[in-house]
Amino acid sequence: MAWEIKTHHGIHLPQIGWSLDATRRAGRSFVSHAHSDHMARHAEVLCTRATARLMRARLPSKQRTEHILPFGHTEQLTADCTVTLHPAGHIYGSAQILLDHAEHGTLLYTGDFKLLPSHAAETCATPRADTLIMETTFGLPRYVFPPATEIVANLIGFCRDTLAAGATPVLLCYSLGKSQEVLRALAASGLPIMLQSETHRLTRICAQLGLDFPPHAEFDPATHAGHVVICPPHSPGLLKRIPAARTAAVTGWALDHRSFHGSHHAASFPLSDHADFPSLLRFVELVQPKRVLTLHGFAKEFAATLRERGIAGTPIGEPLQCELSLG
Ligand SMILES: [Zn+2]
Repeated sequence: MAWEIKTHHGIHLPQIGWSLDATRRAGRSFVSHAHSDHMARHAEVLCTRATARLMRARLPSKQRTEHILPFGHTEQLTADCTVTLHPAGHIYGSAQILLDHAEHGTLLYTGDFKLLPSHAAETCATPRADTLIMETTFGLPRYVFPPATEIVANLIGFCRDTLAAGATPVLLCYSLGKSQEVLRALAASGLPIMLQSETHRLTRICAQLGLDFPPHAEFDPATHAGHVVICPPHSPGLLKRIPAARTAAVTGWALDHRSFHGSHHAASFPLSDHADFPSLLRFVELVQPKRVLTLHGFAKEFAATLRERGIAGTPIGEPLQCELSLG
């Protein structure tokens, strides 16, 4: 008998009584990573140590029971089912879950993932599985990201040019994940960097968890001139305190030039913490699933692409975006 997969505010697996990235309070849920669209105040969670720590910082709860599992360790989840967590490469500590059930076979759920190396996340794994549930945020052929080295070189060029013109480069990045990736990517440039307060707090937690960062300071309106500032996309209060700000969006959606046409940003850089279209296809090739369920972003379109290639692909759930939405 196949895995039964229900979708309602996340994924529910009734045969084992666990949810995956439930977005409403659940009895028991795997939490792939600590982005707000992947977690809620569950009674019991299964996650990595880093996700548990970040979850405590972002969604505190005294009643939560944490089951922390290191990457690559297999444990019994129920009488008939084992569980192993594998790195997803999306943000620090982000995990995929591999379930192996005596009757229903293997099931891999990716959560958000990035196949190519990230500056701030563990290397994404590609374990074999019969049933694959994968995110397909960038599931259209037009989403092909340039090499990360090229994007980072352009980003550093933008920061240097802006500072040379006496202005302040402001890089718009989500506070958890993208900010730490950009901060580490800027390390070799030697540029002085300030972080918005919440970004600074989460970066300090990542440092406590073992990531190292180049020198940086918390944003200070009095002394910010001459610094690169990293802050979340919607920070009107902070931007008001930077009179000579030149903003740059750092997001995979920067590939959608039409969306950016007429935007008020000075620049945009398509550095993403998700897999692009070729990486999504490569991931499926490596996992070798018998059936694939797609969710988030272009789930319908990517499932159709898989079917054209002779792979059973079905879209599930409603679209959700983790990255900067351009409205
Ligand atoms: Zn995410």
